[in-house]
Amino acid sequence: MAQPYDLVVIGAGSGGLAVSKRAVGHGATVAILEGDRVGGTCVIRGCVPKKLLVYGSAYRQILDHAPSHGWDLGAVQLSSARLFDNVRREVDRLNSRHEDLLASAGVELIREWGRFVDPHSVAAGDRLLQAERVVIACGGRPNLPDIPGAELAWVSDDLFELPQAPDSIVIVGGGYIACEFACILAGLGCSVTQVVRRDSILRGFDRALVAEVQAGMEAMGIGFRFRAQLRGITAVAAGRRITLDDGSHVDAEGVLLATGRHPNLEPLDLARAGVDSRAGRIPVDANQTTNIPHIFAIGDVTDRINLTPVAIDEGRCLADTLFANRPRRTNHSLVASAVFTQPELATVGLSEEAAAALHGREAIRIHRARFRSMANALAKAGPFCLLKLVVEKASDRVLGCHMVGEHAAEIIQMAAIAVGMGATKADFDRTMALHPSVAEEFVTL
Ligand code: NDP
Repeated sequence: MAQPYDLVVIGAGSGGLAVSKRAVGHGATVAILEGDRVGGTCVIRGCVPKKLLVYGSAYRQILDHAPSHGWDLGAVQLSSARLFDNVRREVDRLNSRHEDLLASAGVELIREWGRFVDPHSVAAGDRLLQAERVVIACGGRPNLPDIPGAELAWVSDDLFELPQAPDSIVIVGGGYIACEFACILAGLGCSVTQVVRRDSILRGFDRALVAEVQAGMEAMGIGFRFRAQLRGITAVAAGRRITLDDGSHVDAEGVLLATGRHPNLEPLDLARAGVDSRAGRIPVDANQTTNIPHIFAIGDVTDRINLTPVAIDEGRCLADTLFANRPRRTNHSLVASAVFTQPELATVGLSEEAAAALHGREAIRIHRARFRSMANALAKAGPFCLLKLVVEKASDRVLGCHMVGEHAAEIIQMAAIAVGMGATKADFDRTMALHPSVAEEFVTL
C-alpha cells in the first residue's frame, strides 16, 4: 500500500488552497482534491468576477458625471459582452495562476471529487488515498427555494457564464448576492426588479446604512417588491414570468435566485468517516476539529462566517497548528465585511441595533455624518455618504464603525485595525484628519 499523505485536503477553494500550501511549507506531504476548477467560489464564480463586474458597472456613474467635470464624450457605447468576456479571461488567468502556485509549492493536485471510504481513506476517481489527517474545505452552493419552476431560474454561478447582461431581470432575495447583482446589472443598463420577502434589504446590517444603500439603489432605477414571496416561475416567450403570492406577475428575460447558500456536503459520504453533519453543516471546535479528531473542516462547510478571508485564516492557522507546532486559532470576532452595492456598504463591529440589544440603548452613543462627497459635488448628483460610529458611553470604546459611500470597503478595512485594538472615540478624535477626504469624517465626528 502507498505511503499515507500527511494531509489530504478536499476542495481547492480559498480555504483548501491556503491550508495545503501552508502545510507543504511546513514539510508535510499534501494532496488536494478538486473536481471543478481550482480557485473555488471566490475566484471562479464569486468575489473576484463579481468585483470586476462592479468596476465595469460603476463606469455608468462616472460617465453620467463626466460633463460636470468638463468632459463631453459624445455617444457612448456599452458592450457588456466584452466586459463579461474580459472578466472570464481574467478568471482563467487566476485559475491557472493558482494551479501554478500549487505545483511550485509542491502540493499534489488530483482533479477528482473526494469521497470518504473510511476515516483515513478518501476515494478520488479510481485512486484510494490514505491520509493521516483530512481537511474538508469544499465550500457551499446556492439554495433553491422549493417552488414550481425553480429550475428555470439562474443562480449566481450562471450569471458569470452569460454572453452579455440581460435586458431585464427579476432578482429574488435581499442579501449580499441579490443586492450586488442588482446594482451590477442596473449599471449595465438592465431593468432590475428585486423581490424581497421582508420589508427591507440586507438583514443584520445597521438599519440607517441599509436605508442609505436602498435609496442609492432606487436612484439607479432598481424596482423593489417588498413583503413579496415567490410562488412560481414559468417560461414565456419573452423569457420568464414569476408569480408572487399576491397573484401578481413580473416578466423578465431571466430570474436570479439569490436566496442563500448551504454547505456542499452531498458528495463526501461523511457517514463512512463518522463525521457529524446532521445540522446540514460540519460543526467544528476552535481548532477546526470535527467530532473525529484527525478530520478538520474550514470555510463555508462549517457555515459560520462565510467569507473568503475567514476561510484562508482558518486554513493557515490549522496548518501552523498541525505541522509547525505553532498553535493558532482564527479570531471570529470583529470580522469586517462589505457589500459591493452602489453605493458600497462596509462595516466592522456592532450595528446600532445590535449594540442597543447587547448593552442597552442608554449605554451607547451614536455619532454620524451624512453628506454628498466632493467627488459628486460638481454633478450635484449621486448617492450620499453615511458614516457612523457606535460608542459605549462608559468606556468610550468604539463598538461599531460603519460606512456607506465611495471606497467604504477600503476605509473600513483600516478602521477595523483600530476597532480590533479597542480604540476609543477619544483615539479617533486625537487622530489628525487627512483633508479633503471622505474618511476624515471618522475623526471629526
Ligand atoms: P444571504 O443569506 O446574504 O441572503 C439570502 C437572502 O435570500 C435573504 O434576503 C433571505 O431573506 C432570502 N431568502 C432566503 N430564502 C428565501 C426564500 N425561500 N424565498 C425568498 N427569499 C429567501 O445569502 P446570499 O445568497 O446573498 O449570499 C450567501 C453568502 O455568501 C453571504 O451570507 C455571505 O456570507 C457570502 N457573500 C459575501 C459577499 C461579500 O462579502 N461581499 C458577496 C456575496 C456573498 P431573509 O433575510 O428573510 O432570510
